[in-house]
Amino acid sequence: MTARSEDFANRLAALRHIAAEVAARHAADVDARSRFPSETLAALREARLLAAPVPTVLGGDGCDVRQLAEICSTLAKACGSSAMILAMHYVQVACIVRHGLGEPYWRAFLAELPERQYLIASMTSENGTFGEMRASLCAVRREGEGFTLDKEATTGSYCQQADAILVTARRARDVPETDQVLVCVRRADYRLEPTGEWDAMGMRGTCSPGFRLHSRGAQAQILPEPFADIAVQTMVPYSHILWSSLWWGIAADALGRAGQFVRELAKRHPGSLPGNAVPLAQASAQLQTLRHHWLGVASEFDGLEAPGAGGRRALNTIGWALKLNHLKVAASEAAPRIVHEALQIAGILGYKNDSPYSVARHYRDVLSAPLMVSNGRILSKNASMLLVYQET
Ligand SMILES: Cc1cc2nc3c(=O)[nH]c(=O)nc-3n(C[C@H](O)[C@H](O)[C@H](O)COP(=O)(O)OP(=O)(O)OC[C@H]3O[C@@H](n4cnc5c(N)ncnc54)[C@H](O)[C@@H]3O)c2cc1C
Repeated sequence: MTARSEDFANRLAALRHIAAEVAARHAADVDARSRFPSETLAALREARLLAAPVPTVLGGDGCDVRQLAEICSTLAKACGSSAMILAMHYVQVACIVRHGLGEPYWRAFLAELPERQYLIASMTSENGTFGEMRASLCAVRREGEGFTLDKEATTGSYCQQADAILVTARRARDVPETDQVLVCVRRADYRLEPTGEWDAMGMRGTCSPGFRLHSRGAQAQILPEPFADIAVQTMVPYSHILWSSLWWGIAADALGRAGQFVRELAKRHPGSLPGNAVPLAQASAQLQTLRHHWLGVASEFDGLEAPGAGGRRALNTIGWALKLNHLKVAASEAAPRIVHEALQIAGILGYKNDSPYSVARHYRDVLSAPLMVSNGRILSKNASMLLVYQET
């Protein structure tokens, strides 16, 4: 699935306008008040950008992951929180497109999405599972055609503003913690009790406190495939690629500010190279490497759909698991490093909150990258896989 290049160019132009005229304008206030970026989301809805991953036959744009990553990285240059919200929403839509399209309930839901511009949140975290997405304590309780589901999530971004939430849970009460399903609960059918405030160092506009969820629905709302397959084939690849692209976007804007600072210094002292021009050149090389990393993995991922290329099943291999984890770890380490360099280059004017060269918000936002599915946890899984796998 790929949007036609002309259609996509138009979409990206609309997004650039929203990034510059809406998201960038409100980013400081969103950050200062730790509030939902409602103006940006309204503009994204108006431009029908929430349906970018929905197939064209259902009225969406049919964007592939590389195109979605271009969108998220562009928005991240203006507001990291808005880009993270959009990326998380796209991940949820992709899970439904790739694992639910054959079911009448999900087909109807996706056909409504372009018109209604539903915003979909995610609840994989849970008190007691300690950051392990592939285990759940809560379980679906089936009664007749329906179900009820209660969950206590440690972190739930924009759940209070969403129209639906995709929730991981055990398939039933009598199955192991790893036998999970992905359930869509709709706004009219759930109640959320916040268990705290979202007053975090960065990504403050994502509005991500803990929640107690009480929900019910029809069993058709449970995605038919096991969550183990959905995670490997869609949730993890889309998350790691889209998150990496937006961390890059945050770093790109920070370095852009530092570059502007250096160019203005150079203008004031014609004929001499400012001392921080060489560090700028070094950081620019790191930024380019990072961009090529997520672009490369995104293109390879999209290429799996080509005839004879292996398809979705290729994602169940250790090689792909490592490739995607390497991208997440590398991007989440590189992006904060680049923002740190931008701060060294701009100096005190980068450190001040009220300076045009400020990278304070960028720095705080990007520091969430190694925690958002902790790198320690991912590296320990990689280490186990590398004991039995050697790249050919
Ligand atoms: C901005 C933001 C938004 C988020 N939004 C959502 C959301 O919408 N929905 C949602 O469900 N969740 C969300 N999360 C939560 C996220 O998905 C993770 O669940 C959470 O960040 C992990 O929490 P933790 O650090 O306590 O977990 P842990 O993975 O338990 O990590 C804690 C510490 O233990 C270490 N550690 C853990 N396992 C190992 C291991 N095997 N080997 C070595 N060290 C290890 C880690 O390195 C880390 O130092 C969000 C997080 C952030 C930062």
